[in-house]
Amino acid sequence: MTQFSPTAASQASRPMRDSALRPEREPQNTDDPIIRVTGLEKTYNTARGALTLFRGLDLEIETGAMIAIVGQSGAGKSTLLHILGALDAPTAGTVICASTDVATLTPRQAAAFRNREIGYVWQFHYLLPEFTALENVAMPLLARDRAKSGVSGDRSSSLGWKREALAIAANWLHEVGLEDRGSHRPGELSGGEQQRVALARALVNSPRVLLADEPTGDLDEITAGRVFDLVERLHVTHGLTSILVTHNLDLAARCTRALRLESGRLTPLALGAKG
Ligand code: ADP
Repeated sequence: MTQFSPTAASQASRPMRDSALRPEREPQNTDDPIIRVTGLEKTYNTARGALTLFRGLDLEIETGAMIAIVGQSGAGKSTLLHILGALDAPTAGTVICASTDVATLTPRQAAAFRNREIGYVWQFHYLLPEFTALENVAMPLLARDRAKSGVSGDRSSSLGWKREALAIAANWLHEVGLEDRGSHRPGELSGGEQQRVALARALVNSPRVLLADEPTGDLDEITAGRVFDLVERLHVTHGLTSILVTHNLDLAARCTRALRLESGRLTPLALGAKG
């Protein structure tokens, strides 16, 4: 795997905003739901026979909403996020996410879609232990442009891009309050700090949609609250549409809407949410 210079970011002039790197997108009508799922069905063929999770699930999410999904373990919450993020395919139905019909993507298109449009955060941070926090945050940027620099074969432009990517990553570490932890490896960070780094990594490519699967599930109550505060702040400041799977009803109540996934359907959950 490529090794980066952790000092490259500090050599770069100033952490720059990533707007220049944001991929060109079709102008959007913000009245359109950014996510529209119609008639979703999902069946896994297992050794014990067919396991059907969704039978005609419908979901519409408006641009800018922060949606909580709750439900018992095994209800299919993670599977739903995986389908929205093109990590898994529906058995039937239409899934539009970030203006993309995700069920029709080839594996290569799905990878590009995820890299460009989706920020993923899981219960466990899945940071790469041998890389620093700064390098971990820079990974999606480098993955996005690896093919391009490989094609040009221009070593100096590839090195220039790495420096730029590290500078953008440094900016994101600053945004999640960890500017002084860039040279730490994941094992040298607390659980809350690891999840902050994972959030920075999820958002470094300026996706439109954040999918978070129990992002605070492995943290103590106080740290969970702080990480959720950060998610809320990033959601607003970066104009995200966010879907969070959580067991924590207090945190779910802070979302625009909360939905319960049960028996393969989503139903509104009244939690005194913002409305
Ligand atoms: P939740 O996130 O609500 O706990 P999941 O979406 O992880 O639920 O899983 C829902 C059900 O689907 C579980 O019973 C799980 O074992 C099953 N499942 C998930 N992924 C697969 C798979 N790839 N193959 C077979 N069964 C799966």
